[in-house]
Amino acid sequence: LYLFSLAPRINQLVGAAGQFQVGAAAALRIREAEEMAVEDPGAGPEPAADAGCGPRPASVAFDRVRFGYRPGLPAVHRRISFTVPARGLTAFVGPSGAGKTTVFSLIERFYEPDSGRVLLDGRDVRHWPLSALRAAIGYVEQDAPVLAGTLRENLLLGVPHATDGQLREVLRRARLDDLADRLPEGLDTTVGHRGSMLSGGERQRVAIARALLRSPRLLLLDEATSQLDAANEAALRGTVADAARTMTVLVVAHRLSTVTGADRIVVMEAGRIRAVGTHAKLLASDELYGRLAATQLLAN
Ligand code: ADP
Ligand code: MG
Repeated sequence: LYLFSLAPRINQLVGAAGQFQVGAAAALRIREAEEMAVEDPGAGPEPAADAGCGPRPASVAFDRVRFGYRPGLPAVHRRISFTVPARGLTAFVGPSGAGKTTVFSLIERFYEPDSGRVLLDGRDVRHWPLSALRAAIGYVEQDAPVLAGTLRENLLLGVPHATDGQLREVLRRARLDDLADRLPEGLDTTVGHRGSMLSGGERQRVAIARALLRSPRLLLLDEATSQLDAANEAALRGTVADAARTMTVLVVAHRLSTVTGADRIVVMEAGRIRAVGTHAKLLASDELYGRLAATQLLAN
């Protein structure tokens, strides 16, 4: 179970983002190998993925987090604090380089803060067994790749022994109900190298379906930057809204349509949190948010 949950992550990291993240994945593997020996015996059984009404949503908090990727370079996070209660939709917006994706990297513990704490359910992520932390989180990266192979294989990276019924269910939740029927060989259709049989929007929703299959308590979605057509945009909005009813959803949002219904929006700028509020409140009170919203494109 442990290795299975790790495999897609490594592949995503390597596939998605080039040099920096390959380094991160390698560091991660080493760290996980160390922790496995120490922590696995006491970690206890993982909660059943589909017991009754599903797993309990998780709360998230940053407590005065300071973080930089390299000593000597300016900090990426300059003492940021925020809290996100369990369940609901929280959107992060802000200019490129503000530190939004790094928020997700710290929650996943790909990196650790230089000072301050990252808390999941009130517990410092450094005190979580890494396997349990990763099992609790579904992470859909920006421009997430769908690997070579069939649609079924891509989904099963999430949960190797899932049934066809479970696969159809998560495809439905990702608004991809018709995808398996449309493809010539259904779930066994090769979706091509990096999912080139699929549109950008479909590719990210396959990655969401894969994450949902693991019944995460926290869903981290780094929205794809590519332009979506109206149908894909509506599908994404519906998928995210549904997920936020049963789990905690954090999304780095690039589209106005994703944030207008969010429970809270965190506006980041140059490693700081500039404002937090609803769309209406921020439109009235935050000048940067007003400018971003006017372009319909909230980050890049
Ligand atoms: P955003 O998602 O808001 O665009 P990021 O969190 O990706 O911002 O990046 C914040 C800053 O950290 C940027 O200046 C970026 O260049 C830098 N950065 C991001 N990832 C890495 C990395 N793996 N190694 C070094 N610097 C990084
Ligand atoms: Mg980013």
